[in-house]
Amino acid sequence: MSSRSYNMERVSPFFAPNRILLGKGVAGQVGQEVRMLGGKKVLIVTDPGVVKVGLTAAIEEGLKAEGIPWGIYADVVPEPPARIIDEAAKIAREGNYDTVIGIGGGSSLDVAKGVAMMATHTGKALDYVGQNMFKERGLTKILIPTTAGTGSEATGVCVVTDEEENTKKSYYSHLLLPESALLDPLLTVSMPPSVTADTGMDALSHAVESFVSVNRTPHSEILSLEAIRLIAESMAVACLKGSELWARYNMLLASNLAGMAFTSGGLGASHGLAYPLGTEYHIPHGKSNAIMLPHVMRFNRVACPEQFAKIAVAMGQPIEGLPLYDAAEMACEAVEQLIETIGLSSRLPDYGVPDTDIPRLVECALKQSRFFVPNPRNLGEKEIRSIYEMAF
Ligand code: NAD
Repeated sequence: MSSRSYNMERVSPFFAPNRILLGKGVAGQVGQEVRMLGGKKVLIVTDPGVVKVGLTAAIEEGLKAEGIPWGIYADVVPEPPARIIDEAAKIAREGNYDTVIGIGGGSSLDVAKGVAMMATHTGKALDYVGQNMFKERGLTKILIPTTAGTGSEATGVCVVTDEEENTKKSYYSHLLLPESALLDPLLTVSMPPSVTADTGMDALSHAVESFVSVNRTPHSEILSLEAIRLIAESMAVACLKGSELWARYNMLLASNLAGMAFTSGGLGASHGLAYPLGTEYHIPHGKSNAIMLPHVMRFNRVACPEQFAKIAVAMGQPIEGLPLYDAAEMACEAVEQLIETIGLSSRLPDYGVPDTDIPRLVECALKQSRFFVPNPRNLGEKEIRSIYEMAF
């Protein structure tokens, strides 16, 4: 990537957590981290699956060692409805907690972020959906991902389901970034291959979408390209031989880099078209991205073939001597190959979605038009329909 290609006239933002600690066993340091941040009483926010595989034990041990009292809210569900944030924030307020530790996948981390904010804001969580709606920093946030992943521990984003409208809504605010993120690859080893594959595809979607976003920045480009390289190198091993800690480490790092990349550089149409698959068919978020990503890439590649050629190189494709558009196509093929290797499919019929549902999908995707703004090609109803058709 030549630094000559950066736009010096534009002011490029970069957002990241205050502190990131990455390393095997680092979750055990959580007690010291709470102390250092001045915390006196902690609410752990997680889901029953994370508790069941024993991942909260290291956190509780760490708090106990430092003599820090804690409570636990373990009722988070996937694609969490906003009312869960309201419910847990009430507990946080009434219990006088000053620190929230989110441990789990994106669902738990997002609820933890929302709880930390709503504990000090009035009204309902849904009142604050949108850009920069929070007025203050909320409770101290420490985020510990157990999937790799959403990168939620590194983003100023929180995603909830509005049950009444049956659609996903997002909060965007730098105030959602945590004071501290602890990245411990040991916590991701228990992920079964299917969760590893789904969540890894979410990270790849973040990296690819932010790399071609029209709002990409120098920071986001550097981070997303390295995330793509790490994922291409490690994801198949993480899925097929999950005990390999180097692959887990690389995936956790990649997910974190991709999170910082998209929180600064934006996402794109793949996320916009994937969300309806979650709300309409309850397909997990990462899997929905695996379905849509190659089709959206193929739709987008004519808009910025140079970027797609760089993705192909980062994924180890031999593009030398190829015309630019063929090199760009290699990026789409590399992603398709990876999806097949990890046992996923990018075909909607494989998930029981009939083609008669296309109009319904289009209607839902139109509600996610915020994702089409940074997309390198414009999308309207016709384009959205044609991309869904590619998935049949
Ligand atoms: P998830 O948090 O819903 O977890 C999926 C399942 O995996 C759960 O049953 C959980 O118990 C289990 N699990 C988690 N870690 C495990 C482990 N180490 N071992 C065994 N099981 C484990 O899934 P996710 O894909 O991480 O998160 C999806 C959510 O994140 C969606 O709501 C999505 O919209 C949101 N998201 C948020 C951001 C952001 O920046 N805030 C970005 C992308 C996605």
